[in-house]
Amino acid sequence: MTEPSLEVLRSRRTTLGSLPILRALPVRGRRTIGAWCFLDRYGPLSFTDEKPMDVAPHPHIGLQTVSWLLDGEVLHRDMLGCEAIARPGSVNVMTAGSGIAHSEETPRQHGGRLNGLQLWVALPDNARKLEPSFVHVPSVPRLELPNGAAEIFAGEIAGQRCDAPVFSELVGLDVRVTRGGAELPARSDFEYGIYLLDGDASLGGEELRPEALHYLAPGATVLSLGTRRGGRLLILGGVPFAERIMMWWNFVARTRDEIAAARTAWVTRQGFGEVPGYEGPRIEAPALLALAEPNPAS
Ligand code: MN
Repeated sequence: MTEPSLEVLRSRRTTLGSLPILRALPVRGRRTIGAWCFLDRYGPLSFTDEKPMDVAPHPHIGLQTVSWLLDGEVLHRDMLGCEAIARPGSVNVMTAGSGIAHSEETPRQHGGRLNGLQLWVALPDNARKLEPSFVHVPSVPRLELPNGAAEIFAGEIAGQRCDAPVFSELVGLDVRVTRGGAELPARSDFEYGIYLLDGDASLGGEELRPEALHYLAPGATVLSLGTRRGGRLLILGGVPFAERIMMWWNFVARTRDEIAAARTAWVTRQGFGEVPGYEGPRIEAPALLALAEPNPAS
């Protein structure tokens, strides 16, 4: 019997506007898990007068954004005229394809708390020029387990599939485990990233550290989760992404020329539409310097 060996990748503290976040992906030593290429963890936080999330209109190409909340609300608006509030149990999935602009903000009506995850999925070459689209899934499927449950906010597991488009083999799960431990079926061709969200949890007997992404290479057929007091964890899985991607600001592309063209389209207001309903100026593109990797707007 082989024990799973977890690689521990510490998250980086940064900010999204005024919102403190932990960036778990990309980090030094790991750019992708399957096609998952970006993971921001924010909250839990409480607020009264402020507006903790206020991400003005900004562009994306070549990726999907997946917005998953543990608590609170985030209002999405985009240039297609889509408008949807993400709440716990629901997921917003935006497929940027050839290009889209959107905003994300705390809505006027809110419960004063925010806790969530912002994820990106790199689109494979055969899907990255698709027309942009947006899907709000009001209630994601749930896989019940002895001593636990998994909410499926992306992809498929054990025959249950989230009703939002995916373009590569992957899964995104919000898993709860209680005393006694739970076993989650795994695909041996998937690599996995595991992130502790609340409480305590272990995988294959190895304690999960807070504020870190734990990488598990392909080969596992089951994920054995343990806990002492109860735990909640994020599990991302997918077939290792074979294509070499280039990430810059909010763009996922293959070449520097594609990045430059997308930036020019945003700067000249010719390639992306306006986001109706958002009050305030949009986010301007950073300078395209050879080695700079500007903070994404997410
Ligand atoms: Mn965004």
